[in-house]
Amino acid sequence: MNRAGHLSLSLFAFSLALAFQPIPLSYYLFVLLGAMLPDFDLPMKGLHRKLFHNIWFAVIMGLLIADNLGTLPAQLFLIGFATHVLGDALTPEGVHLLWPGKKKLQAGKMKTGGMLEYSVTLLMFFAAFALLFHHLSFGWTKALYVSGFLVLGLVVVWLRPP
Ligand SMILES: [Zn+2]
Repeated sequence: MNRAGHLSLSLFAFSLALAFQPIPLSYYLFVLLGAMLPDFDLPMKGLHRKLFHNIWFAVIMGLLIADNLGTLPAQLFLIGFATHVLGDALTPEGVHLLWPGKKKLQAGKMKTGGMLEYSVTLLMFFAAFALLFHHLSFGWTKALYVSGFLVLGLVVVWLRPP
């Protein structure tokens, strides 16, 4: 799954989490970290979807964050990580969740950069927008939020596959 897809899945997961408990909006950064960090293994030949895409990496990062910043940031990081793994598992390449074990998690035929992925991205993006909008009271925050989302929306539309 591409960056826009991971971004919108993580936004959606965060907006769902907000429905269950009050979380400062800035804590979305932890979800974002969990959703974006795995693909830092992208430039490493032969290690992509392995090195930072496995459960051990998630556990170590989760413990580090819990130790230094608290349980909630760690939980949010793991939610972000889970959305990343889910997004990648839906593609034919799958994801090596138990690396260095050989077994792959693979549960879909969604092509990275394809039209289906793009549709899922847009759907999750607007679902997150609707859920988060509902949580904010009117005022500057809401105005900023709506403009921020509009800009992000334009970026997502701009990233539309050819
Ligand atoms: Zn990935």
